[in-house]
Amino acid sequence: MLMLKDNLQEVESRVSEACMRADRSRDEVLLIAVSKTKPVEMVREIYEAGVRDFGENHPQEIREKFPEFPSDTNWHMIGHLQTNKVKYIIERACMVHSVDSIHLAEAISKAAIKCRRCMPVLAEVNMAKEASKYGIMPEDTEDFVRQLAVLPGIHVEGLMTIAPYTENAEENRIYFRDMKKLFVDIREKNIDNVNIQHLSMGMTGDFEVAIEEGATMIRVGTGIFGARNYH
Ligand SMILES: *Cc1c(COP(=O)(O)O)cnc(C)c1O
Repeated sequence: MLMLKDNLQEVESRVSEACMRADRSRDEVLLIAVSKTKPVEMVREIYEAGVRDFGENHPQEIREKFPEFPSDTNWHMIGHLQTNKVKYIIERACMVHSVDSIHLAEAISKAAIKCRRCMPVLAEVNMAKEASKYGIMPEDTEDFVRQLAVLPGIHVEGLMTIAPYTENAEENRIYFRDMKKLFVDIREKNIDNVNIQHLSMGMTGDFEVAIEEGATMIRVGTGIFGARNYH
């Protein structure tokens, strides 16, 4: 029998230690348990251990898991979202981390207005400029945020990035550092209707470096739930 609670405890202590190294308070960093592809029973074990924030990258998976959990569960949409799937998450997700086009932002805006809610969103930045990744180029991000800011029904609350896959987390430090700079730069513009407060970065392989560089949200899947069979 897998003991997911042990994995969680191990991750939690690494989070705390990274916070201490960075002279940050533990409550400045939200741990999002990435439960994509994992069955409800496994997610429930982590819920029962006290986690309330879960990350999913398929809208249909949020739709399926949502009714299985108490209403204090927060579902974060962290994967690329097609506009025709916005309907599955609009009343279920607490935030969309992966807004990577105006087209998508407009679709979320329309859907949100229809159900009379305001969706918190993050702009996804392709900091390493990887051809294989979604996201806005860093130099276009301020403009992008300004375009999102005027849309009703959504509220821009920060930036998100997926750093390159690497065996050596130190290689991603530069991207996390540049993200923090971009985050501060855009925050200091005080754009109307924008409140830049969340910096979502760091996964199982590199969350400690991300915390040291200023992440306020980390997204950890494998470290808590074990390896996935598919994405
Ligand atoms: C899958 C995924 C994660 C978690 O990845 P792990 O390496 O398993 O921790 C984080 N962020 C996004 C956007 C993902 O799709």
